[in-house]
Amino acid sequence: MRTNILVQYQGGGYDGCYWEWNYFYIDKQGTFHDIQSSGRKAVTSIENAKELFWANCSGTYIYDMSNKDDIKTFSKETHPVHVFGVLQWFNDNGNIEFFAVCLACECGIDSCDDMVIEDKDLFCVECYSSGGCPCCESYVGDTEIVEVNPDEHYDFSYICSDCKEYHDGEREDESFEDLRWQSFCTGTPDMFSDELRALWVIV
Ligand SMILES: [Zn+2]
Ligand SMILES: [Zn+2]
Repeated sequence: MRTNILVQYQGGGYDGCYWEWNYFYIDKQGTFHDIQSSGRKAVTSIENAKELFWANCSGTYIYDMSNKDDIKTFSKETHPVHVFGVLQWFNDNGNIEFFAVCLACECGIDSCDDMVIEDKDLFCVECYSSGGCPCCESYVGDTEIVEVNPDEHYDFSYICSDCKEYHDGEREDESFEDLRWQSFCTGTPDMFSDELRALWVIV
């Protein structure tokens, strides 16, 4: 039997035919380790594992842990929440090399503390902090982040261009409202001046 493998299989199976991804690891000595198992289809022993391999299920993926490309593939094709769970397990259980891959810079992340999950994407802390917008809290990539005046942008110094545009629009609306009110109360500027041209359209 193959050793030093991470196995992803369809476990679960509570009522009807629901299933969910489960994981186990067979170490270099051939010892079985249950990483995550659930439901009727849980694999919790080496005997179960052998049965699974015999059954040759189409929804079973085997990753060779001595092959970095296999680990990369696992990271790229698995939901980040699961990658996080498996990485956490390897972090907690000995010295087995395992890592997640950052979507932006493709670096290997070997600790859960250094990884950030956003929706279905996984980033290293460095990429997320340089390419994430603190205002809308989404990752946009560092080329989309612009430096702004904190006084005009809710105390943020760096935000994404969409947020900047949105705030700029808000401020324009506000100053137009102020001007309209001023015109209404004082007659200056004139209601029919170019500055208040937009009002004519509304009327
Ligand atoms: Zn990165
Ligand atoms: Zn933003």
